Parts: sequence; structure tokens; C-alpha cells
Amino acid sequence: MFAINHAAAALLVKRRYPDVSLVPILIAVQAMELLWVALNYAGVERTTTEAVVRYVGDIHFAYMPFSHSVATMLGAAALAWGIGVIAGRPRLGAAFALGVASHLVLDLATHDRDIALAPFLNGSAYGTQLYGLFPLGAFLLELGFGVLCWWVYRGGLALLALILGLNLANVSLFFPGVPGLERLLAGRSTLLTTMILAQILVTLWAIWWGARRSAGTGLTGMDTGGGKGGHPGPRPDQGAVLVPRSVGRRRRTDVRKRAALAVPIVRRAPLLPGHAGLRRFSLRCRRSAGRRRRGE
Ligand SMILES: [Zn+2]
Repeated sequence: MFAINHAAAALLVKRRYPDVSLVPILIAVQAMELLWVALNYAGVERTTTEAVVRYVGDIHFAYMPFSHSVATMLGAAALAWGIGVIAGRPRLGAAFALGVASHLVLDLATHDRDIALAPFLNGSAYGTQLYGLFPLGAFLLELGFGVLCWWVYRGGLALLALILGLNLANVSLFFPGVPGLERLLAGRSTLLTTMILAQILVTLWAIWWGARRSAGTGLTGMDTGGGKGGHPGPRPDQGAVLVPRSVGRRRRTDVRKRAALAVPIVRRAPLLPGHAGLRRFSLRCRRSAGRRRRGE
């Protein structure tokens, strides 16, 4: 899958693990692609192109068994999870593992048959071949997946605009008839690797920035601390119970004010057992007063 939608997958993981900071999740979803970049620069893995590059189907990830094989990617996910458990951060480990595993699933859903089962295994490789055989379908799948991630995350309009814009920026890579910069990539694998590295960095930043802005609107139910892994903000299901009615009346004026007001109320939640204890105490007082009145 293209860099923007790998990065967007981090939003799904963040939704599942709202208490884990978005930064390690973003690194996780592109960890194996960053390894691919390093191994291509080092000459260990190899990418080739047709004599003329008209679209993504003319680019071939000819040899990438270390960064992109089922065994290495699942192995990296398991390792991340194990380190998280040993370090006493099981949820961070699980979120990182899920991010790494998402890369495998999304690449299998679109790539040519270039994802091997394991390194040094000269068997068959896997991929739906969507890029080569049905690029229009691949484009719609990528666009739809990006929007789905935004929708599940409950992101703001800026995040949606970034996901749509960065998907549309790739349009010439999906349609051979649409000219684009990919024509410059023919026979230049190092330039291709650099272009993909640039896409990875730009899209990771875009999703981080867009998610941070979404958090500011109070629409995501994520932490309002800008993805710093602080206090998880009010989830929609909590909001109905914990946000007072007076806050609801302000909805039309400013959603940001509403989020800012909701967070301190959630933070006060741990005091509730104290309130309950006070209620139990006053109930006991009333009962003993009643018993005294009845002369028991
Ligand atoms: Zn990949």
C-alpha cells in the first residue's frame, strides 16, 4: 500500500489503544518500510523498473525477503510485543506489534506477488497483484481505506483533507494514461527509494499533525494532549454520562470549549468512590437516628 494509507492505519491502532502515544504507532506502521529503504540503499534488497515507468505496475520490488516477508514481519511484531511485556509496557508492545502486522496485511492486499514466506526460502511469493492487474481497483481500495481510518478515528476535517489530498497526489501512479513524475524513475532505483522515503516521512508527519488537530476539536475521543500519551480524553460513551448538561448547551458555540471543559470532569472521576463513601456514611447516620427515634 502507499505511504499515506500505511500511515493512516496508525489511526485504527490509536483508536484501539487510546492510552498509547501516536508517535510509536506511526513508527510501527512504517518500520518495515524504513528497513526496506535502508536495505535498498545498502544494496541488500533490490528494486527494478520497466524501461518506461507509466504507473505502479511498471515498478518491481524484485528482492525484499528481509523487510517484506511474512516471517520477518510477523517475527518483528512478535518481538515488539515480547519486549513490551518484558519492559512492563504490554499495551505499548501490543500497539507496536499491531502496527507492524498492519503493514503486512495492507501490502499483501495490493502488491504483486513479491512478498515471500521467509528469507532464503525459494518458494512462492504472495500478493493480490492489484497494482499490476487492476490499478483502478487498487486506487479505490487505497482511497477507501484511508477514509475508513479517518472515520473510525473520528478525525477532523483537516485530517480528512490530508488523507484525500495525499491519495490524489498519487493518481498518476495508478493510471498509465496520466503523466507524472514517475517517468523519471525508469532505471533509477536509488531515486525511487529516495522518493518513497520522502513519501514515508511526509505522510507520517501529515497524519501526526492532522490527528493532533483533530484532538484539539474534541471530536476524536483521543487524548487532547497532542498525542503525548497523557490522559485519555472523554470517549463518546463517557461523555454522555460525565459531561454536565450546561456543557451540552454550548455545543453550537464552540466544540473546543466543550472538550476543554469535559477533560477536567473526567479527571475528577477517581474522586467518585469518596463521594460514594460520603453517601454511605450519611445513610448510616440517618438509619441510626431513625433507630434512636424508635427507641431501639
Ligand atoms: Zn511495504
